[in-house]
Formats: sequence, C-alpha cells, structure tokens
Amino acid sequence: MCRHAAWLGAPRTLAELIHEPEHGLLRQSYAPRRQRHGTVNADGFGMGWYDPGLAKPEPIRYRRSIPMWADANLPGLARVARSGCLLAAVRCATVGMPVEESATAPFTEGRWLLSHNGRVDRDALRDLAEGAESACDSAWLAAAVFRRLRAGCSPTPAPATANALGEALAEVVTSAAAKDPVARLNLLACDGVTLAATAWGDTLFHRPHPDGVLVASEPLCDGPGWQAVPDRSLLLATADGLRVQPL
Ligand code: GLN
Repeated sequence: MCRHAAWLGAPRTLAELIHEPEHGLLRQSYAPRRQRHGTVNADGFGMGWYDPGLAKPEPIRYRRSIPMWADANLPGLARVARSGCLLAAVRCATVGMPVEESATAPFTEGRWLLSHNGRVDRDALRDLAEGAESACDSAWLAAAVFRRLRAGCSPTPAPATANALGEALAEVVTSAAAKDPVARLNLLACDGVTLAATAWGDTLFHRPHPDGVLVASEPLCDGPGWQAVPDRSLLLATADGLRVQPL
C-alpha cells in the first residue's frame, strides 16, 4: 500500500504534509507505521495543489518516479507550494505494476486530483476505465473516476460537486469490488473545494483542526485528535464540515 495525505481549509504549505510533521509523508516513505502491505514507499511520489492566482481552477501537479528522499529540490518547492487544498502521496508499486512517472499519484484531469492506496485486478475496471495514462491499476482507477465525473459534473465547482466527487468514488469502488472481492480500494480525491476519500481494505484517518481538516492513510504525528475511518466508508469534507458514511 502506498500512503497519501490531504488538507482542506485555510492555506497551508505542502511541507506541512510532507516535511514538518514528525511522521509526515517523507518519514512515511521509509518508515510508515500502519502500512499493511509493503514496507517502504520508494517507487515514486507526487503532490498537487491549487493556486488561486491561476485563471482556471486546475491543480498544479508535481510527481517523480524516484524515492521522495532522493529529490533534493522537493523541500524548497514544498515550502512555497501553498493552498487551501493539498494532496500528496508516496508509492510502493504493486508487484507487476510499472515504476514510471505516469503510474505515480496524484493522477489529474480537469480540476481533479486522485490517489490510490491498494490494488485491483484491472479486469474489474475494463468497462469503466478508458484512456488510462499507464498500465498501473491506480491509473485505471483514476481513469474510471474521471470518466464518471466527466459524465456527471458541471464544469464549475458548485455545492453539488461534493456529492458528485463522493458519488464517483463510491460508484467506482463498489463496482470494482463486486468484480474483484479482494481488491483494496482506498481512494483520496479533491477538486480544490472538496476532499473525498474511501476506506476499503486499508487504513484511513482524519484530524479536525480549527481551520480545516487533515485526511491521511495514517497519522502524520502523535498529537491528539486523529480519528480512524471505519473500513468500507466514504469520507466527504467541504468548507461546511466533514461526514463519514458507510459504503
Ligand atoms: N497498486 C498501486 C501501484 O502499484 C498502488 C500501490 C500501493 O498502494 N502500494 O502503484
């Protein structure tokens, strides 16, 4: 399983997900504490954020197929990449999956970013995914979710978007799991104003803050307030709050 983390709320830097917390994603890339599959996440990393100065509400995405600790330019970039909506991930490639930039989360299309912890038989996605950028199962999942969002979403963020993002994740996860009952399908997605995540086979936590919420595969620190999301749940966070519902 890979590890991922996101923030929604008042503007923060990516360093606050990656470098600053004691068990941020940098530490989780070589010493995760709750990972059930795989021991290190050295097969690439990525991050995405939204710059309000851009004309389109599309994220900026940076990803590499090298270990996070091997990118000497990352700390400087993460210190200035600042946004009210952030997502980052470190990867432990599933056996048989390619190690390449295009197989590395976050995947993006339009205003969406998406990351996956887990594995799924690609045959379970054959009718759902099209145009995946890599043979990696996570890229197929991303293609399936983006396709579902394209079909059902208005082009501008609206209050309904929260539901659309959650519904797209829920639909892809439940239909993939129906075809591959041993699939692990922890997805984390955002669109700049909404975070949505599924817990399906691996750990997921959230931590409320006075100015926003953290969502992560595992706690980024030993501080109080981290709450485990029950397996087979959907988490939705917007400016109005956070809710968790069974899938
Ligand atoms: N199956 C995905 C990949 O190979 C995700 C792996 C993971 O969660 N460890 O990248």
